[in-house]
Amino acid sequence: MRVLLIGSGGREHALAIGLAADPAVEQLIAAPGNPGIAQFAELREVTATDPASVAALAVEVGADLVVVGPEAPLVAGVADAVRAKGIACFGPSGAAATLEGSKTFAKDVMSAAGVPTARAFTCSTTEEVAAALDEFGTPYVVKDDGLAAGKGVVVTDDRDVALAHAAECGRVVIEEYLPGPEVSLFVVTDGEAALPLLPAQDFKRVGDGDAGPNTGGMGAYTPLPWAPSGLVDQVMAEVVHPTLAEMRGRGTPFSGLLYVGLAITGQGPRVIEFNARFGDPETQVVLAMLTTPLGGLLRAAAIGELAAHPPLTWRDGSAVTVVVASEGYPEAPRTGGVLTGAERPGVIHSGTARRADGALVSSGGRVVCATATGADLPAARSAAYALVDGIELAGSHHRADIALAAVEGRVRV
Ligand code: AMP
Repeated sequence: MRVLLIGSGGREHALAIGLAADPAVEQLIAAPGNPGIAQFAELREVTATDPASVAALAVEVGADLVVVGPEAPLVAGVADAVRAKGIACFGPSGAAATLEGSKTFAKDVMSAAGVPTARAFTCSTTEEVAAALDEFGTPYVVKDDGLAAGKGVVVTDDRDVALAHAAECGRVVIEEYLPGPEVSLFVVTDGEAALPLLPAQDFKRVGDGDAGPNTGGMGAYTPLPWAPSGLVDQVMAEVVHPTLAEMRGRGTPFSGLLYVGLAITGQGPRVIEFNARFGDPETQVVLAMLTTPLGGLLRAAAIGELAAHPPLTWRDGSAVTVVVASEGYPEAPRTGGVLTGAERPGVIHSGTARRADGALVSSGGRVVCATATGADLPAARSAAYALVDGIELAGSHHRADIALAAVEGRVRV
């Protein structure tokens, strides 16, 4: 099959590695792609958020399957435009992607489906914001209602910071704080059948010990040695299937990748958020563990035949990824720095570009993800940090404690 992959980040590089390794994938085309993806795919230009352009490219390259990585094209309706050309597409319709595109919509679906989540209010005025902050108390959780590339959420004890974020965003969702370790569970679905991938944990804050502002994600690992037994089955039963049924009932079935972000509280798992696509950087570790051919899996979901797909298979051990970020990330990332040591197996490219003279340079806040597997979590962690040690980029930074609490048995549910 000929596969067209849309996107240009670390998630798409990880997807490209998985797709290229599937013997059923004869040709992989990526648009716009990045220098890491270029090792596995022919790159084409496209405006990923323009449904007509993506659909036209899919026709031009003779794609049998289009895989859409990022959320913005999905919310813009890229999957609808591709399907309208009679081409299979992995990714939800624009209507179904509203599960990620609007936090208010997601809360409404969860409430209708009886999914356990934080109590929340949608607020547009200063008075509503103030009342909601008082209702829930500290820590305050204030979320931009729309898409914000993982950076629209502020969790703070400082009321002025909470008020300022709300004022900046316009419409916000304010909700109760959910204590407990976080889990990202990715579920491949055709709208009805659903296959969970391995649960992973990511690290949202920029600094060690979860200090500093939220980022798009600074690292991840899988599986979770501390996860309660039965967690995945419980989330499938209490969250995923009711949500999929609710979406079908609304006439907007959700197919593609349902990302369930959870807090494991003393009362059980609670949904923090839904996303409509693979998460970055958890995809890097989850796909590093998957031994089931990726193209076949995504195609089965795209064409509504997931129920007939064989059970997923996984390698033994663990995977860890550590993000190397640009100087100044997340506030004001510096780009254009020359990067060395990044063209090695396991180094996944998130924000790199090829300069006219051939040099590899940084082009985003998160530059590369050093990704490794190992026989166990300590081994995978050591291997990932060994890769980090070989990467040079002036002023770059990374967290030194990815997966450390799990290795040391300090994650408490
Ligand atoms: P989101 O974009 O909704 O995933 O939020 C980003 C991050 O903010 C999450 O990964 C959590 O660390 C934190 N967060 C969001 N909502 C809550 C909540 N209700 N309680 C505690 N932490 C939260």
